[in-house]
Amino acid sequence: MGIFNMIINGQPVKAESTFDVINPATGEPFAQVQAGNATHVDAAVAAARAAFPAWSGLPEAERKRLLHAIGAAIEANMAELMELVTKESGKPLGGLNGIGSGMEVGGAIAWTHATADLELPVEVIQDNDDARVEVHRKPLGVVASITPWNWPLMIAIWHVIPALRAGNTVVVKPASSTPTATIRLVELANTILPPGVLNIVTGESGVGSAIAKHRGIDKIVFTGSTPTGRSIMQNAAANLKRLTLELGGNDAGIVLPDVDPKAVAPKLFGVGFHNNGQTCACLKRLYVHDSIYDDVVAELARIAGETVVDDGLAEGTQLGPVQNKAQLNFVRELVEDAKEHGARIVAGGRVKAGAGFFFEPTVIAEAKDGMRVVDEEQFGPVLPVIRYTDVDDAIRRANDNENGLGGSIWSNDRARAAELARRLECGTAWVNEHGALQPDAPFGGVKQSGLGVEFGRYGLEEYTSIQTLKIMKR
Ligand code: NAP
Repeated sequence: MGIFNMIINGQPVKAESTFDVINPATGEPFAQVQAGNATHVDAAVAAARAAFPAWSGLPEAERKRLLHAIGAAIEANMAELMELVTKESGKPLGGLNGIGSGMEVGGAIAWTHATADLELPVEVIQDNDDARVEVHRKPLGVVASITPWNWPLMIAIWHVIPALRAGNTVVVKPASSTPTATIRLVELANTILPPGVLNIVTGESGVGSAIAKHRGIDKIVFTGSTPTGRSIMQNAAANLKRLTLELGGNDAGIVLPDVDPKAVAPKLFGVGFHNNGQTCACLKRLYVHDSIYDDVVAELARIAGETVVDDGLAEGTQLGPVQNKAQLNFVRELVEDAKEHGARIVAGGRVKAGAGFFFEPTVIAEAKDGMRVVDEEQFGPVLPVIRYTDVDDAIRRANDNENGLGGSIWSNDRARAAELARRLECGTAWVNEHGALQPDAPFGGVKQSGLGVEFGRYGLEEYTSIQTLKIMKR
C-alpha cells in the first residue's frame, strides 16, 4: 500500500500516525496518508510566509514559465495521476461521455496553461495635467486552499494555479477521503518551484478549522459544502481573511415543449449523471413540460438501464461507485423518502449488491417540489423529474431554492431560451447545455452557493488586493 507524505518547505513530512484512504469501488484501503495537525499547519504557513517575498518579487514571465512547467509535469505523469484519481474518487478512467479521470487530469493541464497565461494589467483611471491615477493588483500573501472529494485534482488546480500566478504562496488541504492525487501534484510541483511556495498538509479532523482560524493566512479558497463554508467564514473573521467560497448547488433545468424527447434525453442524462451526479454544477432537478413529460422520462429510464456501472479501472465503465459510504446512505435515504411520498422510480433505485459503494442510476418520475430529493442537493446518481405546464411557474419553482450555482433552459428557440435563462437566479445559466465550464469564463454561485468567482481575469483578481497609485503632476 502506498504511503503518502505531506510536503512542507519542499520537504516530505511525516506525522505521528497515518490514516487509510479507501477505494470506493472495493471498500478497501489502497493508500495511507499522514494524519497532520495544527502544528503542521503552523509549519506550512511559516514556510509559505518565508517564501512569499521572493516568489511575489519574481518577474511575471518567470512565474508564468514555472507554472507552464507544472502543466508539463502533470502531462508527463498523466497515467499515474489518472489511476490515483480513479482509486480515490471512484470516477472511471474514461467515463460517461468521456467525463472521467482522463478528463480531470486533462482539464488540470489545460487550466494550468490557460491560467499561467492570464494577465493582471495596470489600469490607468486618469492621466491629465493634474495627476496620473493607476490601479495596481498585488498578491495577498499566503493563500490556503481547502478542496472537496468529487474532483480532487481539478479543483486543487483551480485554486493553486491562479493563487501562484498572482504571486501568492499556498498551503493546500485536500479532502481526507481523496488526498493522494493532490499530494502527488504538490510533489511534482515542488521539483519545479522554490521551497515553501506550495505546501500540503493532510489530516482527518481539525486541520481545516486550524487553517480557517490561522492568523498567518491571508485568504482561503474553499470548495465544498455550504455548512462547512459557513464555518470557515466564521473562523476566518478573526483576521478578516479574503474568501472565495464555491459551495453546494441544486441546479434546475427546464425543458420547453418544443424539443424532441429522443434527441434531448441523452444530453440531459449526461449532464445529470456524469461522475454519478457528484459534481457541484450537475443537473439536479429537471422540470419537463407536461406535453413531452412521459416521453422524456421513458427515454431517461431507458438510458439509465443501459448505463455500465462498474469499477472505474475496468474498461468501458461509464459510472463508478458513489465516493463514500455516508454519501451512498444519504442518496438511498432521499430515494426512499421520494418513494414514500408518491414518486415513481422508473430506473434504478437500489444499492448494488457486493463490495464497494455502488448505487444504480436512478430516474424518479412524478417528483414534486417539497420532496427532499428535489429540495436538497442529492449529489448522487439520481435525477428527479418534475412536471410543469406553465413556464413562468417552472422558473418560479426553479428559483425557489436556497442554492444558486447553475441552471439551464432546453429549447429549439435559442432566443427565447436565453431570455428565460437570464431569469434564473444562479451564477451560470446555460442554453441547451449544463455544467460546462471553461478556464476563461467566470464561474461561481449566488445565494447560498457561494461567494466570489473562479477562472479567467475575474477569478484571478480574487487572489489580489487593489493598490491605487496617485502621482501628482502639479
Ligand atoms: P465538505 O464536507 O464541506 O468538505 C470539503 C473540505 O472541507 C474537505 O477538505 C474537508 O476536510 C474540509 N472541512 C471539513 N470541515 C471543515 C471545517 N470545519 N473547516 C475547514 N475545512 C473543513 O464537502 P465535500 O463533502 O467534500 O464536497 C461536497 C460538496 O462540495 C457538495 O456540496 C458540492 O456541491 C460542493 N462542491 C461545490 C463546487 C462549486 O464549485 N461550487 C464544486 C465541487 C463541490 P475533511 O475531508 O478532512 O473533512
